[in-house]
Amino acid sequence: MDSAGETLTAALGRVRGRRDAVSGRVVKFGGSSLADSERVQQAMHVAQERLAAGGVAVFSAMGGTTDVLIDAAQAAAAGSDPRAAVEEVRARHVGVVRDLCPPRAQATILTTLQLLLAELDEILHGVSLLRECSPRTLDLVMSFGERLMTAIASRLLTDRGMETRLVDARELILTDSRHGNAAVQFEATYGRVREVLQPLARAACVVPGFIGATAEGVTTTLGRDGSDYTASLIAAALHADDLEIWTDVDGVMSADPRYVPAAFVISQLSYQEAMEMSYFGARVIHPYTMVPVVERGIPIRIRNTLRPRQPGTRVTDQPSGSERAITGIASVDSIALINVEGGGMLGARGTAARVLGALAQAAVNVMMISQASSEHSICLVLDAAEADTALAALRSELALELETRRIDTFDLRRNLAVVAIIGENMRGTPGIAGKLFAALGAHRINVLAIAQGSSERNISLVLEAGDERRALQVIHAAFLDP
Ligand code: ADP
Ligand code: ASP
Ligand code: MG
Repeated sequence: MDSAGETLTAALGRVRGRRDAVSGRVVKFGGSSLADSERVQQAMHVAQERLAAGGVAVFSAMGGTTDVLIDAAQAAAAGSDPRAAVEEVRARHVGVVRDLCPPRAQATILTTLQLLLAELDEILHGVSLLRECSPRTLDLVMSFGERLMTAIASRLLTDRGMETRLVDARELILTDSRHGNAAVQFEATYGRVREVLQPLARAACVVPGFIGATAEGVTTTLGRDGSDYTASLIAAALHADDLEIWTDVDGVMSADPRYVPAAFVISQLSYQEAMEMSYFGARVIHPYTMVPVVERGIPIRIRNTLRPRQPGTRVTDQPSGSERAITGIASVDSIALINVEGGGMLGARGTAARVLGALAQAAVNVMMISQASSEHSICLVLDAAEADTALAALRSELALELETRRIDTFDLRRNLAVVAIIGENMRGTPGIAGKLFAALGAHRINVLAIAQGSSERNISLVLEAGDERRALQVIHAAFLDP
């Protein structure tokens, strides 16, 4: 489990359910709920209803915008003209204004958009001149998605007669300077959020998700899908009554609905279960989201912007209460596996520590580890995008062992997936692993590596990516199908 998991466990052990100054509601709308004019309209409708008595609305970029911005920055750095991408971003946002703003209100917001887009254009022009896009510059480029969206959202909510305040997240969310995946400075952030947002209690405050700033005011981002985390930080700082994550599905489902047609909405999840589901790939909620709110016992609800009557999934310190052995199945693809193997590792103390230390130094996140009891090999599971960095770090750390043949080689496999079964009921229940492997075996699905979290709330498996869909369906049928 990564640092989010450890932090969550630590937080769970501290103050449970403390709720002092209660201050309204925080709602977050994801990019999938903001993908076109019709969806933006629907999101505004929900925001108006949910924030009638004031509160905070956090918005992601319009669906797909962050990807376009990243492509534009990369194209510019490679010497191509980024103007087509800027034009695409412009057209989408102006289109929403034209579709949804009353004509008399369009001029001001269009000017705001033009100013933002001119700034973006200049930055990208700079990137193309320099032929180089640093992580710091990429963060600035990505920030435009959320900034454009919130400019529009605050205009639209004002047009609906709401008292609205647009607040730049860079005034609120303070981070270190690890660009692309910045670490939040909690106390400073909580202080800022209270200072800026509490006096605006009656208004609907519109805040861009995903972005923050260093103490020097340099723009940073919290990692892809990070807007959930922004909303959760704000909810924790304000001791909000609840946090609502509005997305494009009816809640957290028993498996990714794109792969498993029989997947159903889980009505109740514990913070830990939600964290594990998201950690293993249920991107409907970002794994860090649970960390800030758990200490204050703030309930999270995941709801569908397109079907606001649906009750959604509630995440609290209570488990699902279901009789089933597992609560859900999550999966991630684009996984790589590195096997470090060699006779010389036998009994060589500290090899695992060195391997993990070298990877931590290289900022590679190891998702799963398993060591054969013979101590003859260590198998590391990580995001395929980090595999080359990981290999380089290991080659340098273990250069001597390689030279003296104490380690034979590093075996790298790509195109893999991790599938994890999750649930509080798994703790202390025998026979679950047996049933899992029997089901996969019966369908001739090959398992390459296995790990069980010591919390006994998950068992995770590594498979060929090509087997992911079938494995999810087979496991769902064995444990969850009605
Ligand atoms: P948003 O743009 O609202 O942040 P995301 O695209 O990040 O939304 O997350 C929602 C998507 O997560 C869903 O459309 C669904 O395809 C995917 N997903 C993966 N696993 C699950 C799951 N177990 N339950 C619900 N959705 C899931
Ligand atoms: N817009 C950002 C992304 O696409 C953050 C988010 O949507 O939560 O990753
Ligand atoms: Mg998301």
